[in-house]
Amino acid sequence: MKYLAPIVFFIFFMACKPTQQWSGQGPINVVPTEDKPIKTQVYRDFDLGDGFFISNKMEGGRLNDAKRVNDTLIEVMILPENQPINPSPWYAFKMWSEEEKQLWIRLTYPQNGFHRYYPKINKRGLYYKKLDSTAFHPHYKTLEDGRRQIEFAEAKLWVGTDTLWIAAQDFAGTAYVERWKGKILENDFVEKIEIGQSKEGRPLEILKIGEADDQKMLMAISLQHPPEIPGFLALKSFVETLCEDSPQAKKFRSKYNLYVMPLMNPDGVARGHWRHNVGGVDTNRDWINFNQPEPKALAEFMESKVRETGGEFVFAADFHATWEDIFYTINEDLDGNHPGLIPKLIKRSSRKIPGYDPNIRPSEGMERGVTSSSYFFFVHGAEAMTFEVGDNTPRRLIRQKGETTARELMRILNRK
Ligand SMILES: [Zn+2]
Repeated sequence: MKYLAPIVFFIFFMACKPTQQWSGQGPINVVPTEDKPIKTQVYRDFDLGDGFFISNKMEGGRLNDAKRVNDTLIEVMILPENQPINPSPWYAFKMWSEEEKQLWIRLTYPQNGFHRYYPKINKRGLYYKKLDSTAFHPHYKTLEDGRRQIEFAEAKLWVGTDTLWIAAQDFAGTAYVERWKGKILENDFVEKIEIGQSKEGRPLEILKIGEADDQKMLMAISLQHPPEIPGFLALKSFVETLCEDSPQAKKFRSKYNLYVMPLMNPDGVARGHWRHNVGGVDTNRDWINFNQPEPKALAEFMESKVRETGGEFVFAADFHATWEDIFYTINEDLDGNHPGLIPKLIKRSSRKIPGYDPNIRPSEGMERGVTSSSYFFFVHGAEAMTFEVGDNTPRRLIRQKGETTARELMRILNRK
């Protein structure tokens, strides 16, 4: 009988406990962000016989092992930089053959489960194209909870003496982003600022766009998570639109300065990481502790900017990619430096895309959290959002979303 009281109390407690329904991103708990060890892949050319070679010796490369199964099937193994880690299994490698032949490449992920990114191929240049759907064979597995996931996937490829690259997204490594930055820098109203260095000594660079007096500033960042290239593509068209030679964009640039850091995790991108920086940490959980150099440098830059100019950040967006298009926003009951800007912006820009219904997930949190957008809002008062596009969102729609967001933002802010 002596156990009855606590049991009755427990039942009473459970019945009274309000059921919480998350309409948005659940609470992201404060997690340790001190350095964790990572496992560096061995960079090498795998000689798989019969004149066929496969290699991870490239920027952005990820291929941990490779073996020949039979005459026409090669199996590759893809592993993360460390664990635990989000299931974003990035891969990128290249291959060539002394004799032109058709081969199947089987992508396997022994440590983390399943295949996620539809293969893209590249025969020359920086940009990869989707593999023809007839050449892609996913092998599904039904999990205990009934979900179906791709356990491994096979790609049918013609390989010859010319190198053929394959990757999880539209580019691999930092070269594509660097070339784009160079193009944006051709505008006379853009300058480059180095705000620090990554753990491996790569420059952390910001583009300053606009010729205003820094009283009203905006911030846009991408690629905290290396495979989230569709997020960078959205940022790219957002920024290009703000750089246009139109009366609207010129007016915007005379009143506002936009700061852009497109490559937040250069080491992770260069090393083909699934998610973390070289400190082995998800930098988007470090915007409160600042143990990692990349978020720390940006926060110091923003804070010094405010201190030196007396200005403020009115808007900030962090571009990512995930399974689907989502806008993670700040609790709508909280006001920053331009109350109502984000809901208005999402509503107006989405209306410009026929048939597009935005998926908006306002946070329920009232307090500062660990992510970039929480930092932007709670420390700077910048109206902030995490702009997530889907892994497979058509690139034309990504461009459109970046453009319409920039146009409507200018329309709203120019009126101020
Ligand atoms: Zn992300």
